[in-house]
Amino acid sequence: MYWGLRAQNHRGHQSHGFLTYDNGNFYVYKNLDLVPKLKPSAIQEWLVRLPGNVGIGNVRYTTSGKCDDQSIVEGTQPMTAESDGIKLAVSFNGNIVNTQQLMQEVTQQFPDFTCACDSGLVCNKLLIELKSGKDFASAVKSVMLSLDGAFSVIGINGDGEFFAFKDPHGIKPLCAGHSPDGKTFAFSSETVSLDINGFVRDFELEPGELAIATKDGFKREQLIEKPRKAFCAFEFAYFARPDARFDGKYVYEIREEFGRNIVKEFPEIVKDADIVLSVPETGDDPAMGVHEESGLRWERASRRHRYVTERAFILLNNERYSTIDRKVNILGSKINGKRVIVTEDSVVRGDTTKVIIEKLRKSGAKKVYLFVTFPRIIGPCFYGIDMSTYGQLIGSNHNAEEIAKIIGADAVCYQSIEGLVRATNCGHNELCLGCITGKYPTPLAQEMADKMKEKFLQGYQEKGRIYESGDHANGIQW
Ligand code: SF4
Repeated sequence: MYWGLRAQNHRGHQSHGFLTYDNGNFYVYKNLDLVPKLKPSAIQEWLVRLPGNVGIGNVRYTTSGKCDDQSIVEGTQPMTAESDGIKLAVSFNGNIVNTQQLMQEVTQQFPDFTCACDSGLVCNKLLIELKSGKDFASAVKSVMLSLDGAFSVIGINGDGEFFAFKDPHGIKPLCAGHSPDGKTFAFSSETVSLDINGFVRDFELEPGELAIATKDGFKREQLIEKPRKAFCAFEFAYFARPDARFDGKYVYEIREEFGRNIVKEFPEIVKDADIVLSVPETGDDPAMGVHEESGLRWERASRRHRYVTERAFILLNNERYSTIDRKVNILGSKINGKRVIVTEDSVVRGDTTKVIIEKLRKSGAKKVYLFVTFPRIIGPCFYGIDMSTYGQLIGSNHNAEEIAKIIGADAVCYQSIEGLVRATNCGHNELCLGCITGKYPTPLAQEMADKMKEKFLQGYQEKGRIYESGDHANGIQW
């Protein structure tokens, strides 16, 4: 579990937790910060304090609830819940959209419940369904039907059974695998956690599927079938590790293809460039693709400082600007006088990209063309990526030309949505493209997006994450 979580620390850097089950009891360790910051002596100590042969873990960054230390501690997973002798522990990746409705239901049953984050709500909702007398699969099915949002869940029930399920659209990744001797089973968001433990990947859970690990292998049950899947397209461009595999294809191969696509889509810009440079590390693989397709030299003159470990995107606003400035070193003599194509995974707020471009200009770059693999982000995400208001997104009310002016680039060249979809090997109806098309896969998210967009275009300033900030005075309520 330790190495598995460490391999996936890029999915959440604010806190981490481990939980084991032994003889009817749960044992928990939780802490703030990154997993590698756990000292070896603490690991030894916790190995003793976490007995049992089944466990779950989680790394988290906040997309619901407050971001102060106290709230982050409260929201650290795994979550546990217990009532009338029924026990549960869950670890959750995603984001629930109908939290307000769920909160009402949970607090009605458990008046002392105060946790403002959605993992606690999911855990307690499942507990409510089990308390009503349903068998486990029926209880999970009821949870799937009552939640709007993205949820890949793993957990342990009171009998020590190790289970996993995915929302009916399959928005977040979740795969299963086993150890080479066939005696140990694992669920993981990305395949990298299986790889690092020498495990064999068995399958990616289907949307709406429940899987339970038994001594003889995985017992799989399709609880809900939806006419369309909606796997998060942003996983391919930014979120997942490049060495993760989705449906057998490595993410880095897809990112290289993104780079090749942009070259084909903007031939005139390519003709006017001398070198390619990447914003490390998610820009590295697209830079390779640009190099291969265009023949331009990939100049490795943007080096990332190994010991600044935070990912700029998932940091809080005040931390992001200084982190990117300290993290990327531009080797000025290699840039001076050159016309440069810079590959970047996405432009969300525009602030970090602006820093990079300023650095290139200071280094003497004659022209700076930005190649962005993820198409222009025009709307918020409701499903676990913390870009949750129109106001924070530079692409929500500026086109590519305007964005170029704001961030100081000579041109901003976004990969087309068609190109992105083709490179992933998925169909349009298998991907979530909500934040780049405005068409969201779940009904409440769509309703919220449409209402808030209307208000935003009228000049309304959002007061926080859309799904947490129904504003009755302005006629926005959910
Ligand atoms: S809205 Fe965008 S970031 Fe969010 S799940 Fe969909 S594709 Fe991913």
